[in-house]
Amino acid sequence: MNTFEKDKQFVAPTYARFPLEITGGKGAILTGSDGKEYIDLGSGIAVNTFGACDEEWVNAVKAQLDKFAHTSNLYYTSPCADLAEMLCNRTGMKNVFFSNSGAEANETAIKAARRYGALNKGNDYYTIVTLEKSFHGRTHTTLAATGQENFHKEFLPLTEGFVHTPPNDIEKLRETVQNNKCCAIMIELVQGEGGVNALDQKFVDEIAKLCKEQDLILIADEVQTGNGRTGKLYAYMHYGITPDVVSTAKGLGGGLPLGATMLGEKVKDIFTPGLNGSTFGANPVCCSGAISILSRLTDKFLEEVSEKAQLVRDTLSGADGIEDISGLGLMIGIKTVKEAKEVVNYCMERGVLVLTAKDRVRLLPPLNIEKEVLSKALEIIKEACKL
Ligand SMILES: *Cc1c(COP(=O)(O)O)cnc(C)c1O
Repeated sequence: MNTFEKDKQFVAPTYARFPLEITGGKGAILTGSDGKEYIDLGSGIAVNTFGACDEEWVNAVKAQLDKFAHTSNLYYTSPCADLAEMLCNRTGMKNVFFSNSGAEANETAIKAARRYGALNKGNDYYTIVTLEKSFHGRTHTTLAATGQENFHKEFLPLTEGFVHTPPNDIEKLRETVQNNKCCAIMIELVQGEGGVNALDQKFVDEIAKLCKEQDLILIADEVQTGNGRTGKLYAYMHYGITPDVVSTAKGLGGGLPLGATMLGEKVKDIFTPGLNGSTFGANPVCCSGAISILSRLTDKFLEEVSEKAQLVRDTLSGADGIEDISGLGLMIGIKTVKEAKEVVNYCMERGVLVLTAKDRVRLLPPLNIEKEVLSKALEIIKEACKL
């Protein structure tokens, strides 16, 4: 059996895979078992921050593998402490809990908010407000947080205590906060899976204001928007707000599984020994990779990310068959006249890998993609969208 056949027989069919087997890669270029090369504008869903086989990252990971791959969280390890220090210094957050994925990073954010509510407002102040079209993960609790009914069906009952309100509707938000005993508001500043929608500044300002007035924990889910993706280290930095909790994952590890929940002043003491944990959390190999990634997300590098984002917008805006471009930085949604899926398939045939989010074509290129390679891919996208 070849890989396609084996996968179909033995792997749980939770993914609608493309008929492509990846066998290798370098930077933004991936190789398929068909012998063809592809320009990767998906980065393993915003994970491969510096593309495939980035030399510095590989060296950092290998060096740690040669020392030791894992120990338990009963002992101290320097990659864990160093990475936590870096994250706090770059964000102003006070301490960090490490896990292995975005859903887990959000689970911890939710636990922090619930405990804050219970201790400071009362046991019945457990409701968390999230937005319609949001995506926060696949565990039962993060599914409950996810404001998309179609993900919920047949998995009921979910964790209780989540209410959803439409993005960018300030009145509805106020009403929702008033009508529920809340402990937190949780948002993606740019909704990823929900269609690459950046929230309005005014709406975000209102959320920050409400959180302050009502003593609510403001959670920024930066699993996808974080780690330089939007042209700032974290997307909340575009909006001039200070969340109480920032969760992240995807691009942080640069290709290895790593989740982080950063806790601000209000909740920095919310966990005491025994209240949370993760066997693999802060894995030294993953943390070493993350240190190599974070240390290169300098202001200068992030400016280049914004320049490339501008290049994408300049090239695609107003092109035949393209209605509008959404998103922030190198997290880009393209509303096409043609079905998004049709565009994706055309691009793949021409050697460019792109994603979808709802009815949009979604681009999440490696942040270090060369401008020439990016331009080449954009020409093919334009061709694919043309009516
Ligand atoms: C991908 C994603 C998650 C879930 O992350 P996993 O690592 O798949 O658990 C949560 N929130 C957002 C905003 C995401 O984009």
